[in-house]
Amino acid sequence: MPFLKLGLDPALVRAAADKGYATPTAIQREAIPAILKGRDLLGSAQTGSGKTAAFALPLLQRLADRVPASPRRLQSLVLVPTRELAAQVGETLRGLAQSLPTPVRIAVAFGGVSINPQMMALRGGADIMVATPGRLLDLVGQRALRLTTVQTLVLDEADRLFDLGFAEELGRILALLPAQRQNLLFSATFPPAIQALAEQLLHDPLRIEVASEPAHEPAIQQRAIEVDPDRRTQLLRQLVKGSGWSRVLVFVATKHAAETAADKLRRAGIEAEPFHGLLSQGKRSQVLADFKAQRVHVVVATDLAARGIDVVQLPVVVNYDLPRSSVDYVHRIGRTGRAGQSGVAVSFVSAATEAHFRLIEKRQGLNVPRERVAGFEPTQPPAGSEGVAGAGAQGAPGSGGIKGKRPSKKDKLRALQAEGANPAGKR
Ligand code: AMP
Repeated sequence: MPFLKLGLDPALVRAAADKGYATPTAIQREAIPAILKGRDLLGSAQTGSGKTAAFALPLLQRLADRVPASPRRLQSLVLVPTRELAAQVGETLRGLAQSLPTPVRIAVAFGGVSINPQMMALRGGADIMVATPGRLLDLVGQRALRLTTVQTLVLDEADRLFDLGFAEELGRILALLPAQRQNLLFSATFPPAIQALAEQLLHDPLRIEVASEPAHEPAIQQRAIEVDPDRRTQLLRQLVKGSGWSRVLVFVATKHAAETAADKLRRAGIEAEPFHGLLSQGKRSQVLADFKAQRVHVVVATDLAARGIDVVQLPVVVNYDLPRSSVDYVHRIGRTGRAGQSGVAVSFVSAATEAHFRLIEKRQGLNVPRERVAGFEPTQPPAGSEGVAGAGAQGAPGSGGIKGKRPSKKDKLRALQAEGANPAGKR
């Protein structure tokens, strides 16, 4: 089905085509006509499904339909959890808006940078505001904008908004919005807090579920390489240099590990940069821009980069440290294989993390064959499942165990067996 059939203005259809969107993704097919009709929406979708354009296009359509001489009023508010996502959503909206005959003003605001330029940018008003909650409230407090005219509220990555502790700010923002409005809620997961929010916020919403795989079903080839922890950097160097990977996003467990690994790669002559929450916003934007422009070959990141980063044609993601939860695993590997491209996700697995990786596989219904690379064969072969599962899930270094995983009866039995085999571990 072409975009034109969804009820969009031909100018927006052209803009979508210019961006390389030939046909709508699953979420776009369902969401666009419903949003245009004014319905509330509950989208279970992750980054990679095309969800940004699914709400961006109808929001812009509404602006295309307005009377040209009408005064500028904030019509739509998009709340996002991170600065990176704010910048990205703003970029998508601006790219698509360029095609419209009447200029549309899209303001983007996030914390961690000076508020003054953001206040200046709001001087002539804005049609669409994309913001993180804290900075939005600061701007309202400074009287740089009012929320009383908002007709559509979009909560993007709502679960992340809660994860990052924005629940209270969100409550304050909702109180400032007009009661009569359209609400669009997108979330990758639906813990009780999000379900409660959905019930409070949405009226007869259209529910759209897009499978955790991106809508384009890109082939993400998942690989697991067995390697001792202290040989990982060397192996990474060899893979980066020998595999012809043009751009690699490497995930590690800590900010310190990101710095150290990037440093070691640089010393080996590879353009590598760390990416984590302690870097200034300017530095983070610079790293992403350099990565996109292929000036940086490898970015070594914490889970900060697991969501929200959209580097089209990112061919490889490496789990240098395994993620803490299986949900994070899905987010991390979803950084590759975007927009229909194929991608590779490589996980380094050691004797200590084997049990943890097995839990991730189990939870995601995966079976990733273990590989070895010549010259990097592990000296400590992974222990068998008996006795390791309980200890490994809790104790895998750099993993922290599966979040929220309650030990099953079997796990407890195994742990007891393991303790029995190792009386020193007994309390
Ligand atoms: P999102 O889920 O919004 O983060 O989008 C994921 C990626 O898909 C982005 O790189 C978009 O540019 C791209 N994209 C969105 N819609 C389409 C479409 N209809 N066809 C092809 N690519 C798309």
